[in-house]
Amino acid sequence: MSSQLCDRCNRVVNPGELLYRVSIKVRADFDGIININAKEIDLKKEFEKIQSVPEDLLEEEVYREFDFILCPRCKEIYCANPLHLPFGRT
Ligand SMILES: [Zn+2]
Repeated sequence: MSSQLCDRCNRVVNPGELLYRVSIKVRADFDGIININAKEIDLKKEFEKIQSVPEDLLEEEVYREFDFILCPRCKEIYCANPLHLPFGRT
């Protein structure tokens, strides 16, 4: 097993040292309610607009996945405030 780098601070994590893997999945959710004003929506134009967007961009709108390696110090920092909320809201 070779050394790995912490994705946050670039510290070398040598074989046998503790490291952490962070997997983040971001997916679109839907509550079943559609708020549209049918008078203002031109379905043909909306469909053409969607067709003009590259497929990979459409996929990124629906689902993204991230995988990171963290050293122990960066894991503590990350876990203390994973959403980077303002101080006092964590
Ligand atoms: Zn680190």
